[in-house]
Order: sequence, then structure tokens, then C-alpha cells
Amino acid sequence: MSGKPNEQTNENSERKSLNFIHAFVEEDLREGKNEGRIHTRFPPEPNGYLHIGHAKAIHIDFGTAEKYGGMCNLRFDDTNPVKEEVEYIDSIREDIHWLGYDWEGREYYASDYFGKLYDFARDLINRELAYVDEQSSGQIAEQKGTPNIPGKESPFRNRPSAESLDLFERMNKGEFNEGTHVLRAKVDMASPNMHMRDPVIYRIIKHPHHRTGSDWNVYPMYDFAHGQCDYFEGITHSLCTLEFEVHRPLYDWFIDQLMTDKYRPRQIEFNRLNITYTVMSKRKLLQMVKEGVVKGWDDPRMPTLGGLRRRGYTPASIKNFINSIGYTKVEALNDFSLLEFAIREDLNKKAPRVMAVLDPLKVIITNYPEGKTEELETINNPEDASMGSRTIPFSREIFIERGDFMEDPPKKFFRLGPDREVRLKSAYVIKCNDYKKDADGNVTELYCTYDEATKSGAEAQGRKVKGTLHWVSAQHALKAEVRLYDRLFNDPEPDGHKDKDFMEFLNPDSLKVITGYVEPGLAAAKPLDHFQFQRIGYFNVDPDSREDQLVFNRTVPLRDTWNKKQ
Ligand code: ATP
Ligand code: MG
Repeated sequence: MSGKPNEQTNENSERKSLNFIHAFVEEDLREGKNEGRIHTRFPPEPNGYLHIGHAKAIHIDFGTAEKYGGMCNLRFDDTNPVKEEVEYIDSIREDIHWLGYDWEGREYYASDYFGKLYDFARDLINRELAYVDEQSSGQIAEQKGTPNIPGKESPFRNRPSAESLDLFERMNKGEFNEGTHVLRAKVDMASPNMHMRDPVIYRIIKHPHHRTGSDWNVYPMYDFAHGQCDYFEGITHSLCTLEFEVHRPLYDWFIDQLMTDKYRPRQIEFNRLNITYTVMSKRKLLQMVKEGVVKGWDDPRMPTLGGLRRRGYTPASIKNFINSIGYTKVEALNDFSLLEFAIREDLNKKAPRVMAVLDPLKVIITNYPEGKTEELETINNPEDASMGSRTIPFSREIFIERGDFMEDPPKKFFRLGPDREVRLKSAYVIKCNDYKKDADGNVTELYCTYDEATKSGAEAQGRKVKGTLHWVSAQHALKAEVRLYDRLFNDPEPDGHKDKDFMEFLNPDSLKVITGYVEPGLAAAKPLDHFQFQRIGYFNVDPDSREDQLVFNRTVPLRDTWNKKQ
């Protein structure tokens, strides 16, 4: 046996840690395919902003190239000029860079290949493998059949190729109206794969294209462009989501008809990312933007990368989340709280911990000298000593959280109540002696005393105090607008209802804006800086924030309160 089983185990565990895509890639490398080249691409359609589902695709496309010393292209699939905009192209570039990936100048467009694709189409026509159909899209759909019933052939299917060629060229010259003529591949109207039933490969669109202007009046369908673009760019592994599995035979058919060499891109499909309490289709996200139910593509409630960034998500948290759910062949719906777990885990280590009071109750420390201010030292993050420390001002009047005081607290309430003691974080132990109420019975002020001997860090404290509260000095604290976000939808699968529109499930409480008080040092914080508001949650500075009006977004509460609420 001579140690072999061991080797085997190592190899097995190595294989196990690979996702199935990388296992295929390694198989190809072992077999010496494509001279050992690894070349992938990320192919977004510039018809909207990228969402976290795209991050899953980006992570495997660029990550695979990175892992095996290969290359990854950015290719815009701009085959539909009606829906595509330059604004989207810019945002896509920004988002990929934000995730930490780069295409090293290999930025291509399906429109770069319009000439070649047009020539291919003519070639197919000449070889009687494509024909111009003059039926309406409704008629074509009627003839498609069902998976069990073969389709009917178009009356134009066997027209002479010269006729089709002439019509195709005239379609492109703009002689016909949209919808009157299409070019179809002549494949197999009886194929069990519906995509092989003479798919439309070109249609007339009379709308200027953001790159080719009015050069073309016909545009290739995505299915006619995608596989060929992969081929032109020398892509070795074309990674995409499962819905394209049924398109693969068609991509292969085109390449087999048109290319004579041996090289073929290998398409590998994986499961889409779906997350509870949100929607992940650009069409639906665009609808929400247009109807104004969110403030734009980068509204912090959106699952777009722009929204998540603004909300305070980090690239590392998104990658960790994606790695934790992995790549499989099975469609899944992942729990939003897994994503929240990933951001908490990342920010726990990275975000400085600061004092902020979101629902203030004034505390007067009656034995603390009026007019006195002390600068108390506090560490920035106990998880990481290298983040150092800072000072925060302490004075006679402070704010604590209203929820940290009860007039008649139960025994296990380790916060403040009459005659009870708590420690103020990084400051002193205080005791509540009295409190004041307004006419409605609301507590408006607490009167406490502090014990100087209990100053944080002092040795002889000699006191057992169970609770520690966060606080800010009333006179020094800065008022801040705090935007508290919650799930955008209150149904785990808003677009999973047959009889109801996803918009019916919008959560009316997905944004609550309050005024809080933060420690004065936060005046220097810059947009997108992260913080942990101690005992509350993770927050970041919104780009709307100004020196005279700080604005914070809640990235995520400290604990998963959502599941408890249900
Ligand atoms: P949408 O349905 O949101 O419009 P799409 O698939 O039409 O998405 P594209 O711009 O065509 O968007 O997608 C670019 C790449 O990103 C494709 O390879 C696609 O498979 C992948 N992708 C899109 N959505 C997801 C998702 N939810 N999970 C994983 N990959 C995705
Ligand atoms: Mg698409």
C-alpha cells in the first residue's frame, strides 16, 4: 500500500475544496486543452446597474482567471440598443473595480463584432442554413409547438437563399419596418430543445446604438452573438448561469457551422444567486427606480452593488458571502441573514467602535463639577489593538439611550433604574438617584451621581456592576441624521407569487429617518467610512453627509433581530 491511501485522501480533500467549476478547469489543464490557457469573460448587458447576483458571476469569472494565472475580459453584450445606456457602462466598470477586479484593458463589446456577425449571417443564408421570415412574431410563436409537440415550419423556410439574402440586406438598409421581417436559423423545428426550433438570429431595430450610431438597422440576437463573441476572443471557459444550459446546443451549433478549427469555448453553468426579501432582476430594479419607490439605483436598500456599497457593505463581505454559499448546479434561495452575517463578521474587525445615542435621554451627573470637561481615553477596536485609541469628552450632562432606563425594572435588567448602578463605557460608574417626568408621564431627565474612584482603567474599583452603557456628552455631541434601513420587501420571495405583483410586498417601513447624537470626533468622518455604534449596529457615512449635517446609514444591526421579529 506504501502510503498511497494517504495521498489519495489528500487529493480528495483538495478536490473537495474546489468548486465543481474549478474541478472542470483543472481537468482541462491536466488534459492540456487550449495549450494550458485559461481565459474567461464577464458579459454584462449594459441595461442596468449590477446587482449582487452579478457579483457571484464576476467573482467566478475574474477569480478563476486569477487563480490559474489566466485572463478575464469585460465584454458588454450590447445587442439591444433600445435598453442600453452609457450611464450603465460607467457604473458596471466602477462596480467591478470596487470588487477588486480588473480586465487589464480587455474591454470589448458585442458591437465590435457586428460586422463579423453580419457576414456569418450571410454565410448561413448562402448555405441555406438561415432564411428571412416575413411572419409576425405572434405567428412565429404559434408555430413553435411545445416541448412535446413539434413545431410547424414557416412558409418562408425553404425560400431561395438569394431571396433571403436580398431581403436581409434590405432589412439592414432600413427598407422595412420593425417586426415585419426577421432572420431565422434553419435548425430543427422538431427538436425537443425549443431553442433549436429555427431561432430568430437577427431583428430590425431602428434605434441608434450607443456605439455604432445608425450604422445598422438589424441587430443580432443575444444567442447569435454570445457564443461567437466567446470564440472570437479565445475564451476557454465561458461561465454562466443555469438558464443558459439549454442554449448551449445552439451556441455549439453556430460555432460548428461557422468555424472549421478544433478550438471551442467550454461553457459551464452554475446556479444563480437569489436572496430572500429582495428581487434580483434588472427589469424589476429599474421599475422600482422609475416608479420612485427607492431613491435611485444606489439606494442603500437596493441589492445593487452601488446600493450595497452605499449601505456600507464591503467587497470582502460580499466575496465571503458568495464563497460561503458556493457554486452548484441546484437553484437555491439564500437567506438575507447570511449576507448580514458576512458584513458583521468583516466590520467587527475593521470598523472603529464609537459612541452614538439614537434615542436620547438626558442624564445629569449632579456631583460632577459644572463647566468641567474631561477627555477620556477609549480604544478603537478591542479586536485589533493596532487600531489604537482616541479620547472622548465627558461632562456633567450626557445622553444615554432611552431604552437603557426603566422606572420599575425587572431583576435581570442590568441597565439603569432608580437606585441602580451602571458603568458608563470608558468612563465612570454612576448611580441613578432620581428622575423627572413630563405631564404625559414620560421620563425626561435622570439625576445620577458618579464615583470618581471608578474611572475606567483605574485599579481599585471594588464594585460589581453588571451593565455597561454607551453615552455621549450632551454639550459636545453632534446631531446627525441617521437612516435606519430594513428589508425592502416583507415577503421572503416577493417575485415568487403567481397572482400578485412583487411591488405589493414592498415593506413600508424599509426606511426610517431619525436624529441621533454622535461623539464629536465623527465630524471628521468621510463618506463611506464605517463605524460600529456601540451596542447598536454598524453604520457608515452617507455621501449626502456634510460637515454641518452628518448623515449615517445603518448597514446592519449588531444582532439579527429580523428573525426574532417574525
Ligand atoms: P437580470 O436578470 O438581472 O437582468 P441578466 O442575466 O440579464 O440579469 P446580464 O447583464 O446579462 O444580466 O448578466 C451578466 C452575467 O451575470 C451573466 O453571465 C449572468 O449569467 C450573470 N448573472 C446575472 N444574474 C445573476 C445572478 N442572480 N446570479 C449569478 N449570476 C448572475
Ligand atoms: Mg441577460
